Amino acid sequence: MKRMIRKIISAALVCTLMGVQAYAYTNDEWMHVENYEGRQNWQIDRGEFCEYLVKLYDYVTWGKPEPIENPFWDLEEAQHPYALGAYSLGFVKGTDSTTFSPKNLVNRAEASVMLLRVIKKMYPQLDTSGGEGIVFPDGAPDWALEALQFMFSRGFTGGHNGEYEKIGAYDPLTLREAVAMVDKVMRTSQYPVVHPTFDGVKKVYLTFDDAPSQNTVSILNTLRDYEAPATFFVTGKADASILLRMRDEGHAIGNHTLSHDYARIYKSSQAFWNDFDAEGRYLQGVLGYLPTLIRFPGGSNNTVSYNYGGRSVMKTICYQAKQYGYLYFDWNVSSGDADKTTVPKDTIVRNVLNGCKNKTDAVVLMHQSSYKTTTAQALPEIIRGLKDMGFVFVRLNEDSVRPQFLR
Ligand SMILES: [Zn+2]
Repeated sequence: MKRMIRKIISAALVCTLMGVQAYAYTNDEWMHVENYEGRQNWQIDRGEFCEYLVKLYDYVTWGKPEPIENPFWDLEEAQHPYALGAYSLGFVKGTDSTTFSPKNLVNRAEASVMLLRVIKKMYPQLDTSGGEGIVFPDGAPDWALEALQFMFSRGFTGGHNGEYEKIGAYDPLTLREAVAMVDKVMRTSQYPVVHPTFDGVKKVYLTFDDAPSQNTVSILNTLRDYEAPATFFVTGKADASILLRMRDEGHAIGNHTLSHDYARIYKSSQAFWNDFDAEGRYLQGVLGYLPTLIRFPGGSNNTVSYNYGGRSVMKTICYQAKQYGYLYFDWNVSSGDADKTTVPKDTIVRNVLNGCKNKTDAVVLMHQSSYKTTTAQALPEIIRGLKDMGFVFVRLNEDSVRPQFLR
């Protein structure tokens, strides 16, 4: 169901600094890193790093570089098809006006500077401050200080081998670290780049998607026992008694479309709203109010929609959702319970607890449909674990943090 769920392996590189969490990139569809497994400990050169910067920019903004004349004698476009694009977008400079040096290795300081340029171009309004207090005991070059402080404060890099004490500003990056940085920026989108003001309370928003089932009853029982409010994104014409129980026990309810059929809902924006509104009317009839929270099947940046409505359909729908006064929510922690039909309970527990580590606002994606027995079984352990980590449980609402992959 959730094709867009991206697997996060958080065990590999976890370090802590102001909520820093670095994780290893798992090679999935979006970045297309060739032979990642075999090369992850190799050092990355400028030519290749440019590729991921351009892909990141394209993925988030759908912006393409303008074609320009190649001023570099040592840059063969066939060999480094993204380097000139990265240059024309302003992400990278030549090593001098006519030399690009595509084979030069990228160090952590340079990578941070380049990535910050991409982020600033993607989010021109972004407040990049907040890292000024960070000092690097082993030194950071002046020209990269702002970028390094930004990257560290947002958790986009964790320093040499994940050790904050050793920033290793001049250490060449491994492919693994380079793509982890880029991947993390993509995943977090504007969140937590624009960090909501942290009021000292760590909040977790448990969310359960899809058609309510017997598992929902068990989930509701657990939530009641632990006094943990949550959010249900409902699809289909669910049993009224279950919906009313969600409402009466204080959970938030959102619309996850009637059919959840990608081919139908993502054919066009009109098709989407037809299906969505039908669900809205059904929910309103049962609940007595029209839910204004949305979760898009597959998330707002699902690529499956391209097959049916083209690359712009999600962008249109997201735009319209805002126009219509709806709030859509993606997630920043995935339970992984949609990776296959039924995922082992312990895996789900581990995914959630690892994913929430070092977050101050965690929106957790889980599922309630009939196959998801292990999600329901995992829930008590998840809730206990999150309580131990100091989280309070909150419903999604208009004031809550709102991870959105696509804006
Ligand atoms: Zn779904």
